[in-house]
Amino acid sequence: MSGTLYLVPTPIGNLGDISRRMAETLEQADFIAAEDTRVTAKLLNHLGIKKPMASYHRHSGEAAGRAILNRLQDGESCALVTDAGTPAISDPGEELVAQCVQLGIPVCAIPGPCALITALAVSGQPTGRFTFEGFLAMNKKNRKAHLESLRGEGRTMIFYEAPHKLTATLQDLADAFGPDRPVSLCRELTKLHEEIMHTTLGQAAAWYQENTPKGEFVLVVRGAEPVEEQEITLEDGLLLVDRLRGEGLSLRDAVKRAAKELGLSRNQLYDAAVGK
Ligand code: SAM
Repeated sequence: MSGTLYLVPTPIGNLGDISRRMAETLEQADFIAAEDTRVTAKLLNHLGIKKPMASYHRHSGEAAGRAILNRLQDGESCALVTDAGTPAISDPGEELVAQCVQLGIPVCAIPGPCALITALAVSGQPTGRFTFEGFLAMNKKNRKAHLESLRGEGRTMIFYEAPHKLTATLQDLADAFGPDRPVSLCRELTKLHEEIMHTTLGQAAAWYQENTPKGEFVLVVRGAEPVEEQEITLEDGLLLVDRLRGEGLSLRDAVKRAAKELGLSRNQLYDAAVGK
């Protein structure tokens, strides 16, 4: 029988966020697959756990994943950890989980630290509906297409960003959604210098043009305000009829076309046009 792949989140800054279940799972797994074994060794030292480790990161290639799957299929259990936060969320693990699902290998996710959820909860932005957008692409064309696809997005949007790219990203977000769009900049979450800045995209971009961003950031951007649908009246219909008549259409054809375009009753529009 296959062993289980355990997804074990690790603190995003504050070691106090290690849960008992996290530590027990690391203790009980046959081996640990880690994004960076040096980072995980420090955590294991802190917990007093000694455990064989395998390396599993975004550049480790298919063979590393295959080796973990083989061990799972041979009945070993594996705890997957990344440097910080929840595995498989903008971190290694997504593909491994998909392969386990395909092969019928059990997967168990331990709940725990995740920067996007922590940021959303503290942001003061609507939390009922949200969309996680991860990191914007470096490639200009893909970046533009990504932002374009979010133009009318009404849900709260969450972005990850590295400090050295923050200023450019804030400017691109301000260009795409307008400088007045509210944003919560969630910096150094769970750490000593945690800071939540409630501002607008334009002000945030201007601030970080003058001040070098330091630390880790999650950006929580307010969704677009709903566009109010305007009720179409007979007056609108008459204006369109006038314009179409000016283009040379007969009264009957102008009424027919205007009624169809605006979803009005043809008879009512005709009566209004002839002044009945
Ligand atoms: N898997 C992780 C998780 O569950 O949050 C995310 C890993 S992703 C490679 C790293 C990004 O997460 C950072 O660039 C930053 O946007 C965000 N992040 C991680 N820790 C953070 C923290 N303490 N404060 C703010 N943002 C953080």
